[in-house]
Amino acid sequence: ALSFRRPVAPSLRVYAAQGESERSYVMVKPDGVQRGLVGEIISRFERKGFQLIGLKLFKTPKELAEEHYGELKEKPFYGKLVAYIISGPVVCIALEGPGIVASARKLIGATNPLNAEPGTIRGDLGIDVGRNVVHGSDSPENGLRELGLWFDDDELIQWDQHMTPWLKE
Ligand code: ADP
Repeated sequence: ALSFRRPVAPSLRVYAAQGESERSYVMVKPDGVQRGLVGEIISRFERKGFQLIGLKLFKTPKELAEEHYGELKEKPFYGKLVAYIISGPVVCIALEGPGIVASARKLIGATNPLNAEPGTIRGDLGIDVGRNVVHGSDSPENGLRELGLWFDDDELIQWDQHMTPWLKE
C-alpha cells in the first residue's frame, strides 16, 4: 500500500550529479482534467521547447497527495487541498530542459490565478486559488523529489528530440 513511497530513482540521482539539463514535475490538477484543459496545458510546454520525458493519467492515492504537499501540512487549507488533488484523475508530466523549473513556474504563473499575469496558464485559465489548474515544482531539488514520488524509474523515457538543433545553438 505504501508503494508510492519511492526513493528518488538511481538514474535521477546520477543525472543530477552530472549537472545536466534540469527536470521538473508538472501536473494537470483534477479541475484541469475535468475542464478539458489537458491538451492546452501540455501544448504550452511543448511549444516553449521543453522535452516530455514522462506522461500519464493517474488516480492519486491519498497518501501520495499528503506526501507531495507535506511541506504545507500546517496550512489551514491542507485538508481541502489533499481532498481536491484526489477528487479526480490528474495528468502527471515529466519535463526536461535547461532552466525548466524556473521557466515552468513562469509559464504557470502566480499561485492565485487572480494575481497571475495574462499569458500564463493560471492567468489565462483560472479564477480561484483552490482550483488553480496546474502544479509545477518550485526548485530543481523538489523536481527530482516529486518525479521520484509520481513516476517509476522505467516510466521516464530518455530520447533524442530531433528538433533540439532548432531550439538550442
Ligand atoms: P504553488 O502551487 O504555486 O507552488 P503553494 O506551494 O504555495 O503554491 O501551494 C500549493 C497549492 O496549494 C496551490 O497550488 C493551491 O492549489 C493550494 N493553495 C495555496 N494557497 C491556498 C489557499 N490560500 N487556499 C486554498 N488553496 C491554496
